[in-house]
Amino acid sequence: MTVEADGITVTARRAVVAMSPAIAAKIHFTPGLPASRAQLAQRYPMGSIAKFVAVYDRPFWRDEGLTGQAVADSGAIDATFDNTPPDASRGVLMGFVNQSNMRRLDAASPDAVRAAGLDSFGKLFGEKAKSPVRTAFQRWDNEVWSGGGPVGVAPPGVLTDFGEALRAPCGPVHWAGTETSGHWTGYMDGAVRSGERVAKEVDAAL
Ligand SMILES: Cc1cc2nc3c(=O)[nH]c(=O)nc-3n(C[C@H](O)[C@H](O)[C@H](O)COP(=O)(O)OP(=O)(O)OC[C@H]3O[C@@H](n4cnc5c(N)ncnc54)[C@H](O)[C@@H]3O)c2cc1C
Repeated sequence: MTVEADGITVTARRAVVAMSPAIAAKIHFTPGLPASRAQLAQRYPMGSIAKFVAVYDRPFWRDEGLTGQAVADSGAIDATFDNTPPDASRGVLMGFVNQSNMRRLDAASPDAVRAAGLDSFGKLFGEKAKSPVRTAFQRWDNEVWSGGGPVGVAPPGVLTDFGEALRAPCGPVHWAGTETSGHWTGYMDGAVRSGERVAKEVDAAL
């Protein structure tokens, strides 16, 4: 079996592919994969997600008894978490930008993204939230080896029609990654579980 991706060609007798179906589909397999697996990958897109982070001198929201955790139904950010380090040497708020909010910011300039993020934090945590010492913005849909996140999503009907191809080995090719996990799909827990499952699978095959 030969696999080729990003100009790198590898010949192997057995392989574990531990990534989302959409990213795995960028790999060229020789011989080719069965249609059920190839078509599953065509129907399993990644979500759109980014993190907007603002750093402050101190976690000022705690003075008012706020946790820094919020959900919002308007604005660019729809969920926030307190990412302050344990020693509270500075205050850090992190906000997720998801799905259609992400697409609305797709072509936005860095200044516009910063303004949108701080506007959201301001509405949730008050005026002080609009004056960070610095900000950062990281989007996963621009990352070539992720293609989005936090997980590949199967729209209705895909698992019904193609679900068996998610985990079924294709000859010497075995599939892992959080999408293949029966529990905690989309989380680190699911990724680890998939690794344990595929290790047993390969062991049995050998
Ligand atoms: C913004 C964001 C926040 C998240 N927050 C949480 C959280 O709080 N808690 C939680 O549990 N989970 C969270 N997740 C989800 C978690 O990150 C994933 O579930 C987990 O990383 C999936 O692990 P994986 O090993 O299946 O895939 P990945 O972590 O995607 O690993 C796949 C690897 O394959 C590599 N790769 C891709 N193509 C090739 C190739 N052709 N050749 C070789 N290598 C290749 C990639 O570089 C990558 O390192 C979050 C994800 C995102 C994006």
